[in-house]
Amino acid sequence: MARKDSRPDTKLVTSGRHPEDNHGVVNPPVYHASTIIFPSVEAVAAAQKDPDNTVRYGRLGTPTTFALEEAIAELDGAYRAVALPSGLAAITCGITGFLETGDHLLVTDSVYAPTRNYCNTVLKRFGVETTFYDPMIGADIERLMRPETKLVFCEAPGSLTFEVQDVPAIAKIAHAHGARVAIDNTWGTSLYYRPLELGADIVIHAATKYIVGHSDAMLGVVSMTEECYRPIRDTFMAFGYSVGPDDIYLGLRGLRTMGVRLRQHETSALEIARWLDARDEVRKVFHPALPSCPGHEIWKRDFSGASGLFSIELGDYPQAAVDAMLNGMELFRLGYSWGGFESLMVNPKPAAIRTAMPWDDRGPLLRLHVGLEDIEDLKADLEAGFERLHAAAR
Ligand SMILES: *Cc1c(COP(=O)(O)O)cnc(C)c1O
Repeated sequence: MARKDSRPDTKLVTSGRHPEDNHGVVNPPVYHASTIIFPSVEAVAAAQKDPDNTVRYGRLGTPTTFALEEAIAELDGAYRAVALPSGLAAITCGITGFLETGDHLLVTDSVYAPTRNYCNTVLKRFGVETTFYDPMIGADIERLMRPETKLVFCEAPGSLTFEVQDVPAIAKIAHAHGARVAIDNTWGTSLYYRPLELGADIVIHAATKYIVGHSDAMLGVVSMTEECYRPIRDTFMAFGYSVGPDDIYLGLRGLRTMGVRLRQHETSALEIARWLDARDEVRKVFHPALPSCPGHEIWKRDFSGASGLFSIELGDYPQAAVDAMLNGMELFRLGYSWGGFESLMVNPKPAAIRTAMPWDDRGPLLRLHVGLEDIEDLKADLEAGFERLHAAAR
């Protein structure tokens, strides 16, 4: 529908849509399907000859699924994309296709905790060894590469602590050693960060976050280069993943407005981050667009924007005071996940998770997702929170 060289905001609107195939209806229809009827034996044979592009069985995808996959692949500049029932399913599928017993995997120490858990449990039981590395390692990753290292897993910025990784440097070394590079790009999205252009081979989106954007569906997508497609598609099929059509529809629907939503998240989050930076209660702000964030220079080089999630380290306040702050929040509600229209705040404990780069002697950490509420109301909510923090600390 759109010119191949159209810009990202145009692609958000046009990609994966084929009204001419559906009576002119603007959005792709939601196909509820398990069984697909074939008109003849010859039609069955033809479908089996082209298994990735035909509608054969509900679990393997319908035109609704293909619309989302086409849209994300186009936005990422990928060969293709595969839709999964959650962000974590996209991670496990994106990793597993490249590993076998005896292989070695490198994973950033700042990784989303369930990714770490998958490596330490399932992969370990199947004889794959994982080494967690300093997120700021850059080209120094060379010293961790082994002949059996098949995959380097990145996340930029890191979950909870927001280190921005040097993906081009890591990819160069990984490729020289015959390893592939996968990256969790949930924070940057296809709009603000384009890892395939920086050397990554596999890009993972927890579409649950900004793509769905309304906190009402679980969804994941992996996009990849041509040589990485087969292993990922085969893993998707072997594991029996299936994505509900209504959830895919919510992903497609969210995608259309992701550009305007992200720009508002970006503006508001930056203003709140700067405001927090000036507060006495706050020791450090981990927002990739602020110089206090590890990898800020890399963010400036490689990203075209910032989304609405960042962390702050408080001064030395007792846990009871932090709890008092969190308990009274009216807009920054206590909840995991992020990327929806609403503000959220959690008090994560990276010290308990990390293994390569200890997170010790730090003040309490708060992770904020800045939603689409009025910025002055958000500041007032935080201001009241700091009053509770002081009152409980006295
Ligand atoms: C939430 C999240 C995921 C997992 O997504 P789900 O849809 O919840 O499985 C993966 N990576 C990051 C960075 C996330 O924040």
